[in-house]
Amino acid sequence: MAADLRLNARWLVPMDGNKPIIDHASVFVTHGRIEAIEPSSSERSARHTIELPHHALLPGYINAHGHAAMSLFRGLADDLPLMNWLQHHIWPAEAQWVSSEFVRQGTELAIAEMIRSGTTTFADMYFYPQDAIDASLAAGIRHVSFTPILDFPTNYASNADEYIQKALAVRDQYQHHDLVTLGLGPHAPYTVSDAPLRQIRIIADELQLPVQIHLHETAFEVQDSLEQLGKRPIERLFDLGFLSKDVSCVHMTQINDSDLDLIKQSRASVIHCPESNLKLASGFCPTARLLAAGIPLGLGTDGAASNNDLNLQAEMKTAAMLAKAVAADAAVVPALQALHMATLGSAQALGIDQYTGSVEIGKWADLQAVDLSQLPQQPLYDPISQLVYTDSSRYTSHVWVAGKALLSEAELTHIDVDRLTATARQWCQRIRPN
Ligand SMILES: [Zn+2]
Repeated sequence: MAADLRLNARWLVPMDGNKPIIDHASVFVTHGRIEAIEPSSSERSARHTIELPHHALLPGYINAHGHAAMSLFRGLADDLPLMNWLQHHIWPAEAQWVSSEFVRQGTELAIAEMIRSGTTTFADMYFYPQDAIDASLAAGIRHVSFTPILDFPTNYASNADEYIQKALAVRDQYQHHDLVTLGLGPHAPYTVSDAPLRQIRIIADELQLPVQIHLHETAFEVQDSLEQLGKRPIERLFDLGFLSKDVSCVHMTQINDSDLDLIKQSRASVIHCPESNLKLASGFCPTARLLAAGIPLGLGTDGAASNNDLNLQAEMKTAAMLAKAVAADAAVVPALQALHMATLGSAQALGIDQYTGSVEIGKWADLQAVDLSQLPQQPLYDPISQLVYTDSSRYTSHVWVAGKALLSEAELTHIDVDRLTATARQWCQRIRPN
């Protein structure tokens, strides 16, 4: 039986824990899944073949944390500390503008940007998640949706109970879509009280849903909790029985030895968002320490309002560089480990590594090809070094999700870029007329 698709790559970077690079390899895809990986000399047939003679073929990037629709707030409020940025700029803008239409159109803009830079899965925590999911299904990108849960009212819901009810309704509506994983997104310890956190733990256990929370984003958050409750936020979550293997903790810029023990004991994972942390001067996540302790570590861009792009390849470079600076050791987080963080590490942290995150037989064909023949990648001694440390996403030529091409020869296959640009311009005029 002929495969549906054959990809003949100069270099295959499978991220499967074995050989980092395989020269001249062919990946065969059938019914959206990786069916075989063979030398390029293989005589196995396929209905459609794509030649990638100067390209690295690798897993698509997995953006493990963000707020996609906030792309419409890109550049609206820059150069401000986190609490000032949130309380005086972002929350008021959200109260005024966020709607079902805003989320659909903002997410479409985000998805186009992410596909272009090689992302095949993104995790999202934002209001009106059904509109974000609909945008993902229309675009064909994989989506891990954490419905936000807060104590206080927003345009989306009025109290924790209502957010939770909405999260459950979203789960019921989309649970049978292969492209969608549904979870719960309690926003942060300082915006969600004990009772809903306990309830979230019960629901997550019962329905086996992943959970994501912003945690220890700043020193202020930790200090405030110590003053009010006599506990660090992570201690409070642990004592509530909330922390568990299904929880991904976003940011973790403040980690002492006992915090590290609690993460290890609970088997929770950490999502690192270095550019957002740098831009908001939130602090530094000690990634080399976390990796040495065996803690699953994923990588995210956070929202475009605090980054300001959604390019996970650039984030990976920043993560590698920052890890070295923070550890004062240039040997930590080498290129391959940074690439792991952006692919299989993110999949593990989100609990979706059984079906995506690496090029392995049986997994979904969530893949990307990067052309390494261009000037900024010359001379080429090591393809993985070029992928991580050069501006390689400029040359992302192909992206497939479940074997379906979303980017081909650097063109989005079924997204109308002119329409997206025009829509973004209209929002800009409404939000800040000039
Ligand atoms: Zn965030």
